[in-house]
Amino acid sequence: MRLSRYFLPVMKETPSEAQIVSHRYMLRAGMIKQNAAGIYSWLPLGFKVLRKLENIVHEEQMRAGHIPMLMPTLQPADLWRESGRYDDYGEEMLRVTDRQGRDMLYGPTNEEMITDIFRSHVGSYKDLPLTLYHIQWKFRDEMRPRFGVMRGREFFMKDGYNFDLTKEDALHAYNRHLVSYLRTYERMGLQAIPMRADSGPIGGDDTHEFLVLAETGESEVFYDSAVTDLKFGTRTIDYDNHAACAGIMEEFTSKYARTDETHDEALFNEVPEERRRVARGIEVGQIFYFGTKYSEAMGATVQGPDGKVTPVHMGSHGIGVSRLLGAIIEASHDDKGIIWPEGVTPFHCGIVNLKQGDVEADAACEALYDSLTALGLDPLYDDRKERAGGKFATMDLIGLPWRITVGPRGLKNGVVELTSRRTGESVEMAPEQAVEKIAQIYKGLTVHGI
Ligand code: ATP
Ligand code: MG
Repeated sequence: MRLSRYFLPVMKETPSEAQIVSHRYMLRAGMIKQNAAGIYSWLPLGFKVLRKLENIVHEEQMRAGHIPMLMPTLQPADLWRESGRYDDYGEEMLRVTDRQGRDMLYGPTNEEMITDIFRSHVGSYKDLPLTLYHIQWKFRDEMRPRFGVMRGREFFMKDGYNFDLTKEDALHAYNRHLVSYLRTYERMGLQAIPMRADSGPIGGDDTHEFLVLAETGESEVFYDSAVTDLKFGTRTIDYDNHAACAGIMEEFTSKYARTDETHDEALFNEVPEERRRVARGIEVGQIFYFGTKYSEAMGATVQGPDGKVTPVHMGSHGIGVSRLLGAIIEASHDDKGIIWPEGVTPFHCGIVNLKQGDVEADAACEALYDSLTALGLDPLYDDRKERAGGKFATMDLIGLPWRITVGPRGLKNGVVELTSRRTGESVEMAPEQAVEKIAQIYKGLTVHGI
């Protein structure tokens, strides 16, 4: 993309309504525009990152054997009357009436709808195990929408639902989700710690939330610092292997890590004192096993191998895709702007032309742009007639992890400069070498976007 043709409405001033750094930078970098409290338009740069996160979530869900689909945002109230949650859900649910006078609602989550789909089509244990998911906009009329996309009213969420014959199989689905979530967050350059949590209005006993540690997080968390040393890394796993998934669950959840809802002071005090941490975290996902709560209420049953008809065991599993943008920025920025991890960056690198209009500098930039694009990479070329200082400030603010700087002086010696946004370190090299280096960095990482 050439910046002169893009839509990147960056702001110099710090918007006064933004209280936390991710919100400030998302506004300043021209990623989002608020349309109403907690409701945002995703401008091109923000949309690009949102799509990348969505793609990573899809890839990791499908890798785990979960099947993508799409349910609508508007739901009939009757389904929620069946489960009993229409009255329970309270003021967070946005209720609307259509022209026929039918009660509808903008879905805050989809347990009822998916259970309805399941009961319409599945009747035998032979169709299990089954996990269906979608990534769709949700609406919750939050009392205090704030912090930009972090606590919106309309937000983008992945929610998946497992259907299993037995509790044991459903707990395997729970473990499988934990593993797939660990992989998902790590690919986004994040550490999200699974913590024992409270199930709230969804119901059920087994639930973990995934928290990214950040001072601006809304949850208070208590943990053994040894959990921060755990990494899933590059290991491979057979998602059908119950013992292997249970092993990862054990590894990542046996050390003390809880949110304030389930915090137990006595247990916490068993952690060696020097490893006890009290901090704040951002909830970026949650997994639940809730047994037959919805299947019993809504008649989602299957015939087992013994011919007996029983309600299926279910769980639901959510990732806050739009909230993740804020969480990533909270975890990765400096005083100049965002620093995107390579796995989610909107453009793979920036090209800064120090002297737009100079025949050689222009030609060198075009050549770099073409070579990178030919490799399937997506560079952002700042081809505007601007001062170098302004171009650097924009690149730093929008946070592309790599920048190639091209100027007449370097070109006389046959070199351009490759700069890491994270370390600030610059190295001079031939333009072809810079292209090769960038290609190497992104090898194996998601490169597709919009
Ligand atoms: P919270 O406690 O933050 O209100 P929740 O526990 O009610 O969230 P879940 O039902 O677990 O939310 O939804 C799954 C994920 O969706 C959450 O882990 C979170 O990342 C995201 N999420 C929930 N509410 C919002 C919101 N208002 N804005 C943005 N993301 C949200
Ligand atoms: Mg939650």
